[in-house]
Amino acid sequence: MEKRDYYEVLGVSKTASQSEIKSAFRKLAKKYHPDVSKEPDAEEKFKEAQEAYAVLSDEAKRKQYDQFGHAAFSGNNGAGFDFSNFDFSDIFDDLFGGFGFSSFSGFGGGSRKSNRPTRGNDLLKTVELTFEEAIFGTHKTITIEVMDTCDDCHGDGGHGSKSCKTCHGSGTVTTEQHTLFGTFMSRTTCSTCGGKGVTYEKKCATCRGTGKIHRRKELDVKIPAGVDTGNRLRLAGKGETGNHGGINGDLYLEFKVKNHPLYERDGNDIYLDLPITITDATLGKKLDIPTIYGPVKFTIPAGSQPMEKHRIKGKGIPDVSTGRKGDMYIILNVFIPKKLSRDQKQLLEKLAKTDLEDSSFKKIDKYL
Ligand SMILES: [Zn+2]
Ligand SMILES: [Zn+2]
Repeated sequence: MEKRDYYEVLGVSKTASQSEIKSAFRKLAKKYHPDVSKEPDAEEKFKEAQEAYAVLSDEAKRKQYDQFGHAAFSGNNGAGFDFSNFDFSDIFDDLFGGFGFSSFSGFGGGSRKSNRPTRGNDLLKTVELTFEEAIFGTHKTITIEVMDTCDDCHGDGGHGSKSCKTCHGSGTVTTEQHTLFGTFMSRTTCSTCGGKGVTYEKKCATCRGTGKIHRRKELDVKIPAGVDTGNRLRLAGKGETGNHGGINGDLYLEFKVKNHPLYERDGNDIYLDLPITITDATLGKKLDIPTIYGPVKFTIPAGSQPMEKHRIKGKGIPDVSTGRKGDMYIILNVFIPKKLSRDQKQLLEKLAKTDLEDSSFKKIDKYL
């Protein structure tokens, strides 16, 4: 079955505010919570809404989703975003009176598999490049902040593990719950061990029991020649560390290329606006023009017209995947002088007395 768009699932617009998203999810949760709903496909609907909410309520994940769609979280065996560690407590406490729904997830008799390996989150980082760096490629040291496995406890969060006494190692407890919808039995995650089935003699001081630490990582990345603004480079496995032996997420670098004072870029082509005088346009001229590969000889043909475009083959930007170079285009910007010296004025007046007109002028005369 085609995975539905998260916005569609919650029935909100792409520009919905956080409070709209929250209120839309609350409505769905109330309607489809499997412990209270009479709808036949309540569980599916509820899971779908949970997943959508877990992503859209988190600005960073929402941004990832807006850019990559479901592909942003596709590493989770194609199952979409893994929301098993998401804290829904503020919603459910509020809706169901705080009877422990906050840590539920094993509805329908299943147990929370909190020791199951899950893939780490993908990360997105914007990298600014100068015009030249983007064209010729470069090496960059990229600093990223990631949640990484704690070295001291290897991600366990504690030292000296024992089977949990509360749940006897199962990770879940069955409780009788009284809510405004009535009384029913429900299996919830064990609050003593957080669903792990084990407790520790000593909490890990380094990570304060979370098993993860905030780490600043430096990566030396080779940026290929020819990248442009909006291009993304995927660095497999360089995202956040997976949980319980799951694989790491990916790191995406998105490039933002600064403008150049002289050149303009259009794909792999480069445009140069070349100011020339009226005499050079009229008489023609040989000159040096700057390309990104150094100066080249260029001839302004006699009789050049304003905004005329000339191609210099192969002086553009190498294609990021094939390496084939684009072209450079010279746009002739004929400069009409605003101020003239007395001599220049006399020369032009003398010129004006000669017949400079060509056949195209006759066309106008015909209608006078
Ligand atoms: Zn337990
Ligand atoms: Zn630790």
